[in-house]
Amino acid sequence: MPELPEVEVTRRGIAAPLLGARVLAARLGKPLRWPLGRPAADLAGATVGAVARRGKYLWLPLLRSPTIDPAEGGLGDGGGLLVHLGMSGSLALLPSAPAPGPHDHFDLLTDRGTLRLHDPRRFGAVVWSPSLHEAPAATLLQRLGAEPFDPAFTPAALHAALQRRRAPIKAVLLAGDVVVGAGNIYACEALFRAGIHPALPAHRISRPRAARLLAALRGTLARALEAGGSTLRDFTDAHGVSGAFQAEAAVYGRAGMSCPRCDGTVRRVVQAQRSTYFCPACQRR
Ligand SMILES: [Zn+2]
Repeated sequence: MPELPEVEVTRRGIAAPLLGARVLAARLGKPLRWPLGRPAADLAGATVGAVARRGKYLWLPLLRSPTIDPAEGGLGDGGGLLVHLGMSGSLALLPSAPAPGPHDHFDLLTDRGTLRLHDPRRFGAVVWSPSLHEAPAATLLQRLGAEPFDPAFTPAALHAALQRRRAPIKAVLLAGDVVVGAGNIYACEALFRAGIHPALPAHRISRPRAARLLAALRGTLARALEAGGSTLRDFTDAHGVSGAFQAEAAVYGRAGMSCPRCDGTVRRVVQAQRSTYFCPACQRR
């Protein structure tokens, strides 16, 4: 499933070429997780502003006034499109798009090429919203936790949020309402880097360990961004390049293999119906 690094890699791939692009038309395929919310034909004539990301959502601002500089019109006076890749979605900007295939469920045709959502399982979505701060976008984003790289999200802020949670730290990270971006592979890797046992109740994490956890999460996500995101199923970035982060995971997917840091063996347990990989020797309660 596309995680935060993959979505950010996608954003970086499409933001520059789409900035200032003129929308010629939009085409809908089969229904996605949520409806677009307005006729596709209404999108024609808008100009695309600077593509932003919040959690695993992308926001494509649409500008209507010709006096707005696309690079400055971050919110968009023509609303915008909130895009989620769901379980299996990928976005590509195609200079000359072939006819849509059976799994291509949204096309935004622009004078810079066609932005196409390919989504075999159709858990993804493209939703029009008048702004990021109004429904439906605001409703979809309201439960998201902090952005991991936001400088305002300090170790103290993470520690304070964890103090209010009694669930295992792994489950709290996965829930995404304290901090976004810790999908299964990144939660496992960050806890390993921080030396924290995944079953430790979140409220028992000390302030120094919270600081180590935040640094570990940032380091893990930064490394994944460098590697171009992970490749868990068929994720490819906007240029069709697969990520390489998964190949360098320390514990994820390595049950029964030796820990890269000690003589121990990586274990797999199931928490909240998801596989957790960890080293019982390196990760303490
Ligand atoms: Zn170990």
